[in-house]
Amino acid sequence: MTENERLKLLINGRWVPSESGSTLPVMNPGIGKELCKVPLSSKDEVDSAVSSAHAAFTKWKELSVPERIQYIFKLKYLLEEHLEELAKINTLNHGKTIVESRGDVRRTIDNLEAAIAAGYTLLKGDHLDQIAPDIDEGTVKEPLGVFGIICPFNFPLMVPFWYLPYALVAGCTVVVKPSEITPLPFAQLATFFEKVKLPPGVVNLVHGSKETVESLIAHPLVRGVTFVGSTSVGRYVYKLAGEHGKRAIVQAGAKNSVLLMPDADPTLAVEACVSSLFGNTGQRCLAGANIVTTDKTPKELVDKFAARASALKVGYGLNEETEMGPMVSLKAKDRVLQYVEKGTADGASLVVDRRAARVSGYGDGFYVGPTVFDNVSPDMAIAREEIFGPLGTIIRTPDLDGAIDFINKSTNYGNAASIFTTNGAHAREFRRRVQAGNIGINIGVAAPIAFFPFGGMRESFYGTLHGQIESINFFTDRKVIISRWGRS
Ligand code: NAD
Repeated sequence: MTENERLKLLINGRWVPSESGSTLPVMNPGIGKELCKVPLSSKDEVDSAVSSAHAAFTKWKELSVPERIQYIFKLKYLLEEHLEELAKINTLNHGKTIVESRGDVRRTIDNLEAAIAAGYTLLKGDHLDQIAPDIDEGTVKEPLGVFGIICPFNFPLMVPFWYLPYALVAGCTVVVKPSEITPLPFAQLATFFEKVKLPPGVVNLVHGSKETVESLIAHPLVRGVTFVGSTSVGRYVYKLAGEHGKRAIVQAGAKNSVLLMPDADPTLAVEACVSSLFGNTGQRCLAGANIVTTDKTPKELVDKFAARASALKVGYGLNEETEMGPMVSLKAKDRVLQYVEKGTADGASLVVDRRAARVSGYGDGFYVGPTVFDNVSPDMAIAREEIFGPLGTIIRTPDLDGAIDFINKSTNYGNAASIFTTNGAHAREFRRRVQAGNIGINIGVAAPIAFFPFGGMRESFYGTLHGQIESINFFTDRKVIISRWGRS
């Protein structure tokens, strides 16, 4: 997987060193030290990976669906067996807590299971006999070919598996491009493809950033790409894919709100808010960022949330007792600190200020503790822009109407929103009027399980078909067959 501490590429079933002269350091953010280097694959290397995927496609699509599914079964059991090892490497490179990393692997496995189910159910076509005398009509789904899978840094294992197993079950082959910040967990997982004897070229791995992505999209043998990442890059990828006549699923950025109604169950709401805002160190596309209250929301609810945020155990991810790990990079940490400055300059009041959090024994890690602002007005940058870190705001609105208005108008994102209430009518009003793709009712992180589609609305999503189960339709096309067979 590595040679002289440089990650290799996986092309046609072989680990090959990259010839690229450009590399970036891959860090352990918990101690601020380099783990290895990641090469930025050249256009020629992308071409080799795509060509190998294309050659593999011609045979892979001819396997029966149950045969393809057997590889996914084997992969599932291998991942179960190696869950702890994968979780550990995930924490080493990303920084998240080991508990969160185990969750990342579990969600990866969930997607393998859902893809198996999809292969046996959703790949079916339909058929209608006798639409006219002696004439029958039906559809079959056919795999399209080679797809690129472009990933963000925050869930290095789960996100590629929102697509990869569905593509494989459908009969397609793939080239995966992990984030250049967290390439290590997927590279480790990719060693398992050989162990399950997946035919060479069915899954290929390249590394890099902008240029690698551009080469992948432009390659004539690539039929489409899936992208998960920020809205600015996502829009560019969607546009580029369109220019090249390619399919694209683009899951993009977010700024999510959690509404605390006056009748919210306090214990449930406080714990859920803490985990929503500070889980994965706030680096989660479904993370809450704005805590929205109404005039009648009890003051104690917000006070308890602030108290819990103040006590959250920040530390090294591999220590079991750690509740929140470091930011993924120094750049990401600095970005959070800049927003703390901005919020202060804009006149908001810091009610929890742990930006200078130090973790004893891990002094060079990229730690920043939970930070919460009160007296935030809806037009402030901290209320509207994606920060992607453990920085929360308290937004005070008069009532349910005012809260929904804030949620819909303060940003153009639409990934997720949650309400905590014991009033069913209020919950219903909320889920009907809020423009977000994932709605939580007494749930702080509205993450769809693998057998539901995963995607947002507005500037959090570009495309039609979503990730997870629905992607099986993205990787296939329907052919309509009309046939006439008269009786002899
Ligand atoms: P990013 O947009 O910086 O990078 C995503 C991918 O795009 C990476 O593989 C990167 O190498 C590549 N890339 C970067 N610049 C590029 C360019 N100019 N042209 C082409 N490709 C480029 O995102 P990130 O920082 O890795 O991830 C965090 C973002 O992802 C957040 O905005 C978060 O909300 C979002 N996210 C969204 C979802 C979702 O389901 N909507 C899920 C996870 C993360």
